[in-house]
Amino acid sequence: MKLFGSSGMRALFNKELLATAFRVGLAVGRNYPNIIIAGDTRTSGDAMKHAVISGLLASGAYCQDAGVAPTPTLAYAAREFDAGVMITASHNPPEYNGIKLFNPDGSSFNSAQQEMVEGMVLAESYDVADWEKTGRSGVFQGAIENHVKAILSNFPSHLNIRVVVDAGGGAASEVTPRLLEELGCKVVTLNCRPDGFFPRGSEPVASNLKELCNSVKESGAAVGIAHDGDADRMMAVDEKGLFISGDVMLAILAKAVGARDMVTTLDASMAIDDMGLNIRRTKIGDTFVSEELKKGGDFGGETSGAWIFPAISLCPDGIYAAAQIAALAAENKLSELADAVPVYPLFRGSISSKGLEMRRLQADLLSLKPVSVGNADGIKLDFNDGWLLVRPSGTEPKIRITAEAKTELRARELFDACLGVIEKSADSGVKAN
Ligand code: MG
Repeated sequence: MKLFGSSGMRALFNKELLATAFRVGLAVGRNYPNIIIAGDTRTSGDAMKHAVISGLLASGAYCQDAGVAPTPTLAYAAREFDAGVMITASHNPPEYNGIKLFNPDGSSFNSAQQEMVEGMVLAESYDVADWEKTGRSGVFQGAIENHVKAILSNFPSHLNIRVVVDAGGGAASEVTPRLLEELGCKVVTLNCRPDGFFPRGSEPVASNLKELCNSVKESGAAVGIAHDGDADRMMAVDEKGLFISGDVMLAILAKAVGARDMVTTLDASMAIDDMGLNIRRTKIGDTFVSEELKKGGDFGGETSGAWIFPAISLCPDGIYAAAQIAALAAENKLSELADAVPVYPLFRGSISSKGLEMRRLQADLLSLKPVSVGNADGIKLDFNDGWLLVRPSGTEPKIRITAEAKTELRARELFDACLGVIEKSADSGVKAN
């Protein structure tokens, strides 16, 4: 059994999750004696938070409660503590909850740290402190003020544009509108009631943001900004009410921050390669981008909407990203910036993994004559005019295929050829068994 995925622990809120939260508190408190904690707006947030706090204090740790705050705000505040605990299930529906753990530099706990906590929880190898050594909790004032202040110092304060903010009822419901008002924007709020009942799908994808697109058009705003439940993500809508894709946003933000040395995931479009930057690519998941940025780099991003600005923190920061996109929209038409980013044809699909053996499949895929092959995450094949990514699904018995190329014809050709090799490889695997 694994408690933590690549981005913390998430599950439906029930008595098991609550009991696990208490044990996570006991395990974390044994190793990190001074903790800051916060939660997003979920209705189960307080119950979860107090379960973790109870474990922390019983283990002998001290804990400060920062209240309701976005994940990047908690991660920013963690710089004064040994670790930060965030109660959130990110963009999962409101009936879910979970825990993300952060280091003082804003990065998520890495796999070794997560495994240490997980091992203690699963083996129940923790204990409560002696009665005279239990910890104390207190209230941490000013987490949001400190984060907002740090962001404000990077931008001009007279943006003078209209902005629509759709926080999806999540943790940024009050923070992002307040930040943008301080930057001189006229803010129209949408889904900014932090009552724990998300009025739209929490993930900031186009299908969940139709109301935002309409509101931008109707109000004549220069930009529409959307977050997920814990606001580590930010996506935007241009002044025409059109959703800006993650790949286009990656290029726009990289240029806006003047990135020279950046990190993204290996499934991001090759459009970013056209910018002439030094780019390192990691496994899919923003925690891997964050981890790689510890070695250096001035910007990182995953096209799901997670943007990392190392100058402020190694946590994806949807609040900082909101200020950045508003500052851009004050100077430019976002639709023109978006149109300037090349969009290459991309095909995605999946096929049953029955009979497939990845080592044999990799050998078989060499028949497509790639110029290089990588194994950071599944099998990545690079060609002079495109790439293929073949990786097993983490949740279903399927293989996922992504193909991108400079022309639609070539992208389709790569996708179909890859599918053909996979089918043949699976066939020979089934026969061999
Ligand atoms: Mg999130």
